[in-house]
Amino acid sequence: MRAVVKASAAPGLEMREVPIPAPGANEVLLKLEKTAICGTDLHIYQWDEWAQRTIKPPLIIGHEFVGRIVGIGEGVRGYSEGQRVSAEGHVVCGVCRNCRAGKPHLCPHTEGIGVNRDGGFAEYVVVPASNLWPIPDEIPSELAAFFDPFGNAAHCALQFDLVGEDVLITGAGPIGIMAAGIARHVGARHIVISDVNDHRLELARNMGATRTINVTRENLRDILGELDIDGFDVGMEMSGNPQAFGDLLHCMYHGGRVALLGLLPKGAGVDWDQVIFKGLQVHGIYGRRMYETWYKMTQMVLTGFPLRKALTHQLPIEQFETGFELMAAGECGKVVCDWTG
Ligand code: NAD
Ligand code: ZN
Repeated sequence: MRAVVKASAAPGLEMREVPIPAPGANEVLLKLEKTAICGTDLHIYQWDEWAQRTIKPPLIIGHEFVGRIVGIGEGVRGYSEGQRVSAEGHVVCGVCRNCRAGKPHLCPHTEGIGVNRDGGFAEYVVVPASNLWPIPDEIPSELAAFFDPFGNAAHCALQFDLVGEDVLITGAGPIGIMAAGIARHVGARHIVISDVNDHRLELARNMGATRTINVTRENLRDILGELDIDGFDVGMEMSGNPQAFGDLLHCMYHGGRVALLGLLPKGAGVDWDQVIFKGLQVHGIYGRRMYETWYKMTQMVLTGFPLRKALTHQLPIEQFETGFELMAAGECGKVVCDWTG
């Protein structure tokens, strides 16, 4: 089969012929239809510091995908060949305290598909049956392909009661713009989002943000006066930029709630006065709830959530390099590659 492989400890990715994997006990083999490019895949492509200490080549990358079940391992129940599915990208141990307490999204032994084990940037992938998420016929594959990052946005945004609240999001990458869409979908009041990229801010506005701020031209902190509010009720840091995080804390209302999703560089400073004297609640977010977030995403899309607005590019898999270039330039929302052409 063809697969996009991180072949060696250096920048780049290559399309290679590799053997089709076989599903073991409690696993299934999927034939992929679509694979989306995640920011994580771009880190692996560029071979940055995080990738260097995390990825062990050779590795097939990719954890945002949709395909059909074509092989079923021993012991799998409840699935049938031909069924169209996506899959949760975090494989958990199932036996630790959190897994057994019904909180597998907090499993300390989590492995990432396409990060710590071969992933779905390939014609076929093997995943644990317990990670599968069936896709209803009404949801097209190009949207189901990126439920994983939609789930990051949903897990982050839906932990708060956003109805009538003022929401600030820093970072209008694909996850930030989907979070803005969710805030609109559930009835927030002001939905302000910042970025350094006008193209992405335009996508965010289209998705439901009420005010966009390009921080290369405007100061985020000025927004409080403009909106005539004392601060935001909910903040979501989705840029990974320390300056954005600092400004976000500054703009929070007393007693506000903050979620950190963006990966901040090691040693990024925090103005703890903002947290302490305003009594902020700060919450780290990793992954998605298994599988409550998947349930909510599916139902939101079936009831009119405009997920398609986050999708800007569809490419045949042969052009995956073009997709990575678009991602590196930030001139895109979600980029989805197709295996079926
Ligand atoms: P992305 O890199 O596409 O988006 C980040 C955005 O932040 C970009 O559009 C960038 O232009 C913008 N940005 C840069 N500097 C900024 C600044 N000073 N102010 C405002 N915006 C600024 O990433 P994404 O895929 O949307 O993911 C968002 C973040 O979440 C990334 O840091 C990613 O690594 C992280 N992430 C975390 C999890 C998790 O489980 N915690 C999962 C997926 C992604
Ligand atoms: Zn566990």
